[in-house]
Amino acid sequence: MKRIGVLTSGGDSPGMNAAIRAVVRKAIYHDIEVYGISYGYAGLIEGEIKKMELGSVGDIIHRGGTILYTARCEEFKTLEGQQKGIEQLKKFGIEGLVVIGGDGSYRGAQKLAEHGFPTIGVPGTIDNDIPGTDFTIGFDTALNTVIDAIDKIRDTATSHERTVIVEVMGRHAGDLALWSGLADGAETIVIPEADYDMEHIVNRLKRGVERGKKHSIIIVAEGADNGFDFGKKISDATNMDTRVTVLGHVQRGGSPSGFDRVLASRLGAKAVDLLLEGKAGVTVGIQKNELVYHDINEALSRKHTIDFDMYKLSQELSI
Ligand code: ADP
Repeated sequence: MKRIGVLTSGGDSPGMNAAIRAVVRKAIYHDIEVYGISYGYAGLIEGEIKKMELGSVGDIIHRGGTILYTARCEEFKTLEGQQKGIEQLKKFGIEGLVVIGGDGSYRGAQKLAEHGFPTIGVPGTIDNDIPGTDFTIGFDTALNTVIDAIDKIRDTATSHERTVIVEVMGRHAGDLALWSGLADGAETIVIPEADYDMEHIVNRLKRGVERGKKHSIIIVAEGADNGFDFGKKISDATNMDTRVTVLGHVQRGGSPSGFDRVLASRLGAKAVDLLLEGKAGVTVGIQKNELVYHDINEALSRKHTIDFDMYKLSQELSI
């Protein structure tokens, strides 16, 4: 293999730049040319493809977002779109592709692999919802952004003796809610993976007030309920002074944490190694602090789950 491509796709996440840098530098280290494809699969179809040099990825390891930009592309879900993409790759002499993105992007990578194009998936999403890896690139940074926000909200909640509801990202996965809730000592964590009992939540809030608690924090993953709807249910049931904060896209940005930079560097480099070993149609990940890879079909056939022991612990610690 003499020339590979790299693209970022779907929702961006802090650390994608560090992963691009690792792919480019590791490839050049092995005397392989690297082409950067801008705007994900949309840019692939349109031929937005440029050669990258060592300097193309200088000074980006600490920057959030993605220098290759990202996009969503409906056309790539069609066979025609995928064939156009493969034609572009061939036109540029690209023999292998690294796709950095979430599970939607992995489905695109799976299609390329099915059509015989060597493709490796690197998990980049703040949701931490990709099977085959304990952590995705961006999750740790987003977690720390949420923690920082909740610490600030806690100060004002205490001053006003309020109950605050914080909606965090996670359409299908409660990891961000669960980890931030545990890290912030939230009274209640509402996640898509578990049903909640409103009566139980209300009783817990009332018990807190009885023992003199000055504030309560409830974290709701967006996939479990809408923050404002949930806040209304709480204020209707308790008459407490409640406020809702939806953190939104602030969770996607920012300088990647040390953990995410290291993870991205390791996973990006591993993807290049795997292409050089002739592997195709696989995803890279980290499990028990070891770099691993899995067949992309197998990874996508599994369902990500949260750590239910951690969920139980969060409940035990917030009695
Ligand atoms: P994420 O990668 O963050 O989960 P999306 O779900 O939006 O983001 O997926 C990103 C892109 O991946 C889509 O816009 C589309 O181009 C491509 N994609 C998603 N699903 C498929 C599919 N089933 N087949 C081919 N490409 C897909």
